[in-house]
Amino acid sequence: MGLQQDRAATGGATSAPTAPGTATIAPMMPTPDRLFRGYLFDLDGTVYLGDALLPSAGATIARLRAEGSRTVFLSNNPTHTRAFYAEKLTRLGIPTPIDDILVSTQVLVDLLLARVPGARLFVIGEEPLAAELRAAGFRLVERAIETDVVVASFDRTFAYWKLQVAFDAVRAGARFFATNGDRYCPVPGGGEPDAAAVIAAIEACTGTTCEAIAGKPSPHMVGAALRLVGLPAVECLMTGDRLETDVRMGLEAGMSAALVLTGATPASALEASPVRPTYVLRQLEELLPAGDGDHGGAR
Ligand SMILES: [Mg+2]
Repeated sequence: MGLQQDRAATGGATSAPTAPGTATIAPMMPTPDRLFRGYLFDLDGTVYLGDALLPSAGATIARLRAEGSRTVFLSNNPTHTRAFYAEKLTRLGIPTPIDDILVSTQVLVDLLLARVPGARLFVIGEEPLAAELRAAGFRLVERAIETDVVVASFDRTFAYWKLQVAFDAVRAGARFFATNGDRYCPVPGGGEPDAAAVIAAIEACTGTTCEAIAGKPSPHMVGAALRLVGLPAVECLMTGDRLETDVRMGLEAGMSAALVLTGATPASALEASPVRPTYVLRQLEELLPAGDGDHGGAR
């Protein structure tokens, strides 16, 4: 069905070139016809993939900034620091200060400081997360008997002994938090199992559900993001490549939300999803209103 529609849609002499599988979306899903005062961007699969900017990302973000709009960047990926993302964006041609970046790690730190101040943590995660938690004043431990809180995260050094400590600690009453709930992290050519796998392993053996997941689409993450943007939700557009995290979070917070088809979500997944993005973009350039150039800026 999709093929026939694609052929029909792209067969006309006046049709613009389109990526395979996306041609059927354009008539049903509009692109923005206005500028927003605030733009929130996911990173992996939205602004870049691996170590390369996605098509038109750099020029589009530069244009939005030139129009006076605020741009901030959100990542669920806790294996890097805000400084890393700022440096990476800047190196790729999108100069960005650390303060315009929010990682699930910071949101988790704030959540733990509010709910379990002074807790001793057993962390299933990588060093950047551990360093952030130590810097916030938490003591990290490796024995169940010392553990007040288990933190589950994206951990490429995950091992059975870690699951055993988490199991013992949670069964003895430790609380259980996580950085993010992503099933996998997209990387060029595939993906890497992400924090959802670690959360699921602990939940499966303990029968205890994770108390809170800090990253997208949680209200903790979107609240922190809106404070960072400094604008009301209705004046913001959230753009990302995942319906269940980026788009869902934006819509639930009262923002407009755009799905971009350059990452984890193919156009074919739209019909089956209950999440309905405000806009669907083949690439970020489509964030710019048609005929953009004389609209008087974002203010
Ligand atoms: Mg993404």
